[in-house]
Formats: sequence, C-alpha cells, structure tokens
Amino acid sequence: MKNGVAEIDYFGERKHALVDSPEIRAGDFVYAQAGMIVKKISEKEAAAVLCHWKKAFPELRRKDEELSRRTPAAAEWLEQVITRSFQGKPPSKKEIEKMLGVEDAADVAALYSAANELRRRQLKNSCCVHAIIEFSNYCRNDCAYCGIRKSNSALQRYRMSVSEIVEAADYAVNKLGFKALVLQSGEDEHYSPETLAEIVRKIREKCGAVVFVSVGEAGEDAYEKMWEAGARGALIRFETSDPALYADLHEGQELKERLDCIRFAAKLGFLIATGGLIGLPGQSKASLAQDILLTKELGAEMFSFGPFIPHSQTPLASHQKPALDDVLKLLAASRLAEPNAKILVTTALEKLAADGRRKGFMAGANSFMISTTPAKYFGKYDLYPGKPQRDEVVEEIRKAQQLLQEIGRAPTDFGV
Ligand code: SAH
Repeated sequence: MKNGVAEIDYFGERKHALVDSPEIRAGDFVYAQAGMIVKKISEKEAAAVLCHWKKAFPELRRKDEELSRRTPAAAEWLEQVITRSFQGKPPSKKEIEKMLGVEDAADVAALYSAANELRRRQLKNSCCVHAIIEFSNYCRNDCAYCGIRKSNSALQRYRMSVSEIVEAADYAVNKLGFKALVLQSGEDEHYSPETLAEIVRKIREKCGAVVFVSVGEAGEDAYEKMWEAGARGALIRFETSDPALYADLHEGQELKERLDCIRFAAKLGFLIATGGLIGLPGQSKASLAQDILLTKELGAEMFSFGPFIPHSQTPLASHQKPALDDVLKLLAASRLAEPNAKILVTTALEKLAADGRRKGFMAGANSFMISTTPAKYFGKYDLYPGKPQRDEVVEEIRKAQQLLQEIGRAPTDFGV
C-alpha cells in the first residue's frame, strides 16, 4: 500500500485500487470496484467467493474467447481502421463518421466483432453492473425529448425521502450484492446540496459500494458536498455535442453550462460517466462522431450512449426512434476509439430489441444497469415510453446473470 493506492491480487493478476476507507490494512481481503476498494470482507467470505470464481472463471473466459473472435472487414478502409485501433492508434473523426455509416452486412459484422475482440483483449471478460435508484421524477427543466420534463402535467410525480433512499441503497448493496450504485433524479431543487450530501453520507456509512450521482446541474456547491460525503462517480450526459442542437432541445439552457458542470465534477475527482442520445431530430453522423470524441476529451471512464425514444407527452412525440444498428455502430465505434473505456448498454437500447443487451455486449459494450427503484415508484420514472413492467428485481438479476453466463462474462459487482 503506497500513497493511498493498494496492490491487489485479482485471481493471480496484479491490479491497483484506491483505498477510500481508513479501515483497510495490507493483507485484508477486499472488494474493489471502479478502481476503488469499496469493502473489506472476512477471510471466510473471500474464500467462498474465490472458490466459486476459481471454478467458473476459466470456463467463462473460454466461452468469451470463442464468441469474440473478429472477422475481417470486406472494405479495405475499414480493415485498416480496425487494424490501427488494435495497434493503439485511434480512428480520426472522419473515420468514426464513416464507421457510423457502414451499411454492407459483412462490414457491419466485422465492425461489431472487432469491437468485441478489442474489449476482450483490453479488459477481459469482466462486466460492470450498477444498481440505479431513481429517487425523484420532479424536474425544473423542459428537455424536449424527456418524459419527466416540467411541462408534462400528465405525469404523477414522486419524491423519495432521505430514509427511503438510504433503505433502497441498503437493499441493493447489502441484500442484492451490488457494489456500485447510481442515484438518479430530475433536477429537483427540493433536495438541497446538504440533503444530497446527507443521502450520500448515510449510504456510505451503511454500504460498501461506489456511489455515482446522476442529478444533473446541481451546482458546484452540491458536487463539492457530495464528493466530501463520499460520492465518487458522476453520471451526467452532455446529450449532444452540437451547441445549436443542444440549445434547440433544452429551452433556456446552453451546452457550455452542462460541460462546465461535467468538467467541474471531473476536477473534483469524480469518475465521469457521460455520453448522449442517438437519433435526435437533425442529428448528423458527423455530430455523433464528435460526441464520441467529446466523451473521450472529458476523460470519461464510462461511455453512456442510448437511443432517443419518442415520448407522447413531449414536443418530439411524432419523431422516429433510431434503428438498433445505429446504436450498435456507435457502441462499436466508441470501443475502437477508446479501447479501455467501460461502455454501457442502456435500458433504452433494450427497448429497441428484446435481445438489445446481448447485441450491445457483442458490439463492444461491457456494462449495464439494473433499476432497483422501489416497485411503487419504478413506473413513474417515465423518461421514455415502453418501460416494461419490471420483473421482481431478483428475477431481473437472475436473467442478467444467465445472459452473462451464456456469453462468458463475469459480473464484477453483484453477489454470487
Ligand atoms: N437530471 C439528470 C438525469 C436525467 S435523466 C441529468 O440532468 O443528468 C437521465 C437520462 O435519460 C438523460 O440524460 C437523457 O439522456 C435520458 N433520456 C431522457 N429522455 C429520453 C428519451 N425520450 N429517450 C431516451 N433517453 C432519454
């Protein structure tokens, strides 16, 4: 252990993680998540976990290897771009734009398989699973695409109390075994910076997990206080890198303010998860390519891109949603552009196709989230339509584990 960074033995590999808790000593058994030690565990618990994974790990890795061998592209330019990415030379903006426009079926398949193989080479088969708690659907903003926008008077609003939020986090971490939590809400001024910090602090006291906040432009004071209270990640999308399109979609708001907020959180030390919406009206391929580059420039540890899904109670109700392949191409191009990133499969992608999650994983993605919002609120967090009646969370987890098993991925964050 040196300067707050510990060396960890992870199935024989040497890894490094930040020590974010005073109780950790050299020789302890720990859970590490997102480069941080989140929890000390007993030797007995560690032995049980290690015993399970020692058997399961090689089998999963073998399966992953089998499923993630790349097929060569038909087009020469694409093959060259892929080869260069594998050598650590990322594609240019023009090349990203071209990848987003690939149509030939063999090239599309080559793009996805290359992204998947690159993911395996860089990051092996570990897959990150976060629990998301959507704690309020009140919002002061009127984003043109969003179902919880202020002007949607048809929506029944809810807010969870501090103790309800802490209880939901306690359940996700201590009962379900999640090691990373996202606390998300509309931009709801009901929660002061002090209250947000109190929520984070109480959760950190009870839960060995990395806490991400996803509360939008809550202000510098709030981010400072949440950081001090122990939040370590911020999920905040810039939505689109095109300032004019951003201004059209967000009445009274500017892209610059959003980016300032993201940069401020990054400067404080927050891990940044960011990205945008795919398929917005008037959005070009060049603009999407710029979105990927902006995500890189912001130093994101996680890419969060998902399809725009039109919501009937918004001004964009009559627009089209994008095709599944438009989203998969963006995930794959992101992987080639940033081989070491976590790339998220969003729940919105799962709305485009029943096997959207699997397809996302086969196109270079390696993380996803499961909502553990209490059942009585879940349906009211109505960002986009078609959110299915969720299964019991336990059933959701079982299905996710089954999928990961089928494709040879090892979940790093929920219990075994
Ligand atoms: N208030 C927080 C959280 C916003 S909601 C913030 O400002 O960051 C989380 C995300 O849902 C948004 O960033 C947006 O990209 C996404 N979203 C909203 N409406 C959507 C829609 N119709 N289709 C798909 N995603 C949507």
